[in-house]
Parts: sequence; structure tokens; C-alpha cells
Amino acid sequence: MIITSSLGGGKQGDPSLYVDLVDKKMGLLFDCGFNNFSVAQIKKIAFIFVSHTHVDHFIGFDIILRMSLDEPKSLVVYGPPGILQNVRGKLSGYTWNICYNLKLKITVVEIRNGKRISASYYSHRGFQEEDISEGETSSVLVETEDFKVEYAALDHMIPSFGYAFTEKDSYNVNKERLASLGFSPGPWLKELKERARNPLRPDEMIQVQGKWYPIQSLKEQLLEFKKGRKIAYVTDTIFDEITRKKIIQLVREADLFYCESCFLEKDRDKAKISHHLTAREAGILAREAQVKKLILFHISRRYQEIESSLEEARKEFAATE
Ligand SMILES: [Zn+2]
Ligand SMILES: [Zn+2]
Repeated sequence: MIITSSLGGGKQGDPSLYVDLVDKKMGLLFDCGFNNFSVAQIKKIAFIFVSHTHVDHFIGFDIILRMSLDEPKSLVVYGPPGILQNVRGKLSGYTWNICYNLKLKITVVEIRNGKRISASYYSHRGFQEEDISEGETSSVLVETEDFKVEYAALDHMIPSFGYAFTEKDSYNVNKERLASLGFSPGPWLKELKERARNPLRPDEMIQVQGKWYPIQSLKEQLLEFKKGRKIAYVTDTIFDEITRKKIIQLVREADLFYCESCFLEKDRDKAKISHHLTAREAGILAREAQVKKLILFHISRRYQEIESSLEEARKEFAATE
């Protein structure tokens, strides 16, 4: 998969992270503060993962609602305790009597004490609450054949959820090998790549250009293993022994670790009072979780520049931007 990610509000604006699964024509959004995403990007959003609903993290939901209204699509919103009421509140803030020709379905999944409580809202029925259900959940909220998204409940005086997106491991075709062995590309390559993802029996065969071949041997000759990318998002949490362990477990070995750093160490007392991280703490988390790159965001506007935050984090973890 081609995956890109970008912050909608930059490093000091309202938090929102867009993860674009380019070839799947699908977008995942982590928080929805004010943002500068394009209409095309907003229309592609299939999942929204909300950390908590302080206004700077949720104000942009209305724009997503507005841009999605013309689409025959399904939008799933995950969030902490209270998210059902928050979305209900947004939807009941408007009058829907002329929307019966629209085809938007919004499903909200509230995670509360290890349970998932969900409800759906259909535009053509005026977004009344329907399909209410309840069940158990693990830390994995979404799992498809291409990716999974996990969460951890952190502590911002209220629960604030951190999230990790992980692409599934996959295989690429070595095109030179393919040509040198005399094979022509075709739909069989897609089947080979898919079947190679699962454990194989030695006698499993695949038909290529009219002949049968053992999948295991084609896998070894033609395919190259590609580790799935991991993008983690952590915001608005205190740094203590409990959250430290939870964050490290969630973001371990991420390729990109987006982490808030509202404050500098010199304002540590303010960070503690408001349950936020300092840049140094973000650096410590990145180092301990052995991520590849740390990207700071949600840097307080009290600071005229962001260089001091970057420098402070880099003392703990060099690959910070
Ligand atoms: Zn907050
Ligand atoms: Zn915030």
C-alpha cells in the first residue's frame, strides 16, 4: 500500500492526523480539530478515531459531516466514553427534514471499560439513533485484510485515547526475477501474494499460464517480504508510570510516532496541572518505544517558535522533527 500521513493543523494548530491509504482510496482520521484537508481527502474518510472531545480535537467534525453528506458512504467514529452523546449532540444541532435523498450512514462506537457500545445514524431517516448494540472489545478496534488500529486509554483527567495504525505485512513481486524465469504478469500474482501471507502447506499449488506450481517455491523465488508500516498517534495525556507503560506498548517500533508536546520542561508544572506532555517526555517515550521517527505536534501557541521544543526532544531522541 502507498501510505502518507499529514497533520491538518500543523505543529501548533488544532490536532488532526490524516492517514491516507492512497491506493485503497481511503482515509483514516485521528482527531478532527480545525484542519486544512482538501474536500477530496475529507470525502475519502472512512474511519475517525477521536482521542477525546475537547473542542480543539473535535470542532472539525462538522466540516467532515458537511463534506460527507453528498456521498453514499459509511463513516465509523471510534472514541472514549461520551463520544455517543457528543456525536448525537452534533447531529441534533441541525435540521434534517430535506435530507431524505442522502445516503450517509454514521456509526459511532464508544469504548467504555473494555466494552464497545455502538449506534448508527442514517441521513435518510434524519439521523435518528438506531441499531444500538453492545459487546466486548480487545485493544484492536478495527482489523481488515490491509491494516489494524489499536487503542490505549491514557489519562488527561478524562480518558484520552492513543491510537496505533499498523499495515499488514505483505509481499512485493521481484519483476526482474519474474522476467528472468519467463513468467508473464497477470491476476495470478495477486492470488500468489495473498496466499503467501498465510501459512502454506507444502502441497499447495497455484496455476500459472496453464501449468501448476508449488506456491512455496514461487514465493521463495518471486516474492520479497515487506513489513507493514506503523503510525502511532498520542495526544493529551499525563506522563506517569502507568501511561508511560501503556504508550510504550502501543507505539513500540512505530515508523512514525506523532506525539503531542504542549509544553517545554521549564513549564513542567503547567504540563502536570493540565495533564499534557513536555517535549522531553515525548522524546523519552520515542526512545523507550524504539520508534524510527518522532513527529511533535500540539505545541502550545504560548511559544513563539517550535525550535526549542524540537531541540528539547532531540536531547532524548535524535530523529525528531
Ligand atoms: Zn485536551
Ligand atoms: Zn488538546
